[in-house]
Amino acid sequence: MVARFTQEDVYRGDGLNLYVYVVNNPLLWFDPSGYKKCDRIPDGEDYYDEYFEPQELRNMRAEIKKNGVIVNTPEGERTFTMEELQIITDRMHMTQHGMEERIEDGITKYTYTQNGSKSPTALTIANKHVFLSLAGSVSKNARKIAQDIFGEDNVTVIPNSKKYKLDSELEIKKKTIIMSQEFIKSGLNERKGKFANKREKEIKKGGNLSKNINDKFEFGDGHAEVKGIQGIKDTKGFGDDAVRYSVQFCSHLSCPSCSFIQMHEKVINCTGFSENTRNAIYTRNYNI
Ligand SMILES: [Zn+2]
Repeated sequence: MVARFTQEDVYRGDGLNLYVYVVNNPLLWFDPSGYKKCDRIPDGEDYYDEYFEPQELRNMRAEIKKNGVIVNTPEGERTFTMEELQIITDRMHMTQHGMEERIEDGITKYTYTQNGSKSPTALTIANKHVFLSLAGSVSKNARKIAQDIFGEDNVTVIPNSKKYKLDSELEIKKKTIIMSQEFIKSGLNERKGKFANKREKEIKKGGNLSKNINDKFEFGDGHAEVKGIQGIKDTKGFGDDAVRYSVQFCSHLSCPSCSFIQMHEKVINCTGFSENTRNAIYTRNYNI
């Protein structure tokens, strides 16, 4: 297993802040100092790698990385960088779960002590509007962070009851596909097969990837990511087209089922922390 925030991370003073190499581009998930390599070998939850992500989505992500995302604020339209949006999502996530924020040497640090699973908090932008979702309810304090930045009118909180609706029609390669449970399952199985192959190769190379992956390929219709998608579809004035041009920032790596759905709905997912390591302490340092 590659080192991935299995212990408290410390700022290494190499001129690059921890955050930059963690959240920027999932495909470049490594420590540039070479101190700790995190090259995102998928372990069942981590799905944004070359095996599964179509070039089209990568191109969309590259575009967003380059130009940022326009969001409505009380002061008018503003372009947010991926980094800024990730920080906002992280702050929401930390607040939601009662995590600690402190300032050390002028750097804001957050410590995320993970005891079991903490539901991810997702921020999704579609048509310059912000949607908040969680595999649970977004707390008052967490939503306030987003509302203070984007303005109350520009933020929609997805209700807790929201679940990804099956049987919606989707056009893939000019063919209409029904997003049925069977379709999702068959897609997940295909990915599971690819993942198993890759895993075998890694194990042969001496990697330790013995984690049982079977339960990672279940359909998660009430997860934060897919709730966000459904919320946009169901919000008056938004709908399917808005979903296709949405960007999701999440403090968690998407599960295979969420990432599969996001891929088909063309939601660009920009993720931060992994929840793969239980009982870990994560610290992110922000000095931008
Ligand atoms: Zn999920």
